[in-house]
Amino acid sequence: MEKQVLAVSRVMVAWQPIGISMGVYDMCLRYLKERKQFGAPLAAFQLNQQKLSLMLGDIQAMTLVGWRLCKLYDKGKMTPGHASLGKSWITLRARETVALGRELLGGNGILADFHVAKAFCDMEPIYTYEGTYDINSLVTGREITGFASFKAPEMSKHSRL
Ligand SMILES: Cc1cc2nc3c(=O)[nH]c(=O)nc-3n(C[C@H](O)[C@H](O)[C@H](O)COP(=O)(O)OP(=O)(O)OC[C@H]3O[C@@H](n4cnc5c(N)ncnc54)[C@H](O)[C@@H]3O)c2cc1C
Repeated sequence: MEKQVLAVSRVMVAWQPIGISMGVYDMCLRYLKERKQFGAPLAAFQLNQQKLSLMLGDIQAMTLVGWRLCKLYDKGKMTPGHASLGKSWITLRARETVALGRELLGGNGILADFHVAKAFCDMEPIYTYEGTYDINSLVTGREITGFASFKAPEMSKHSRL
């Protein structure tokens, strides 16, 4: 029962970072078109466009993984490993996405006024709650391999570390 509750709540939590990432992307795109540096909008610089492309690719991939998780759930085929892989992978990508967004805003990416700093901070608990990235990876790993590796290897009697 506990396993099922966690699996379902992980599906719900997996969507939170997707929404946050979409909001950050929208904010960044608007900001880059408005702010000018070196005589041009920030959106005109190649490196900034590359970061936007990375963010958009992440968002589309995260959405597809989230969508697939929901489909598996609807069909009653979702396993704890599916839910953990979805939650851990999506939060990893979303963490990258909001970090890119924070970077794109330069110093303003640190200020609360532009929402991106808040989104950056909001991503940290999501990465950790409903099972940390590590623990969810181990749940997936157990399902893939059949070996549980949650416990530390036995310490040798003589180990002093
Ligand atoms: C904002 C927020 C809201 C929360 N809400 C809830 C809630 O509503 N209900 C609830 O029950 N909990 C809630 N939590 C708790 C959350 O689920 C835990 O913080 C999370 O599961 C990590 O546990 P921990 O903090 O004890 O970290 P620890 O278990 O101390 O882990 C510390 C680090 O060690 C790693 N680690 C731990 N064990 C292993 C292992 N076996 N192998 C490899 N690495 C390992 C972890 O991945 C992590 O990086 C919330 C947490 C936050 C931040």
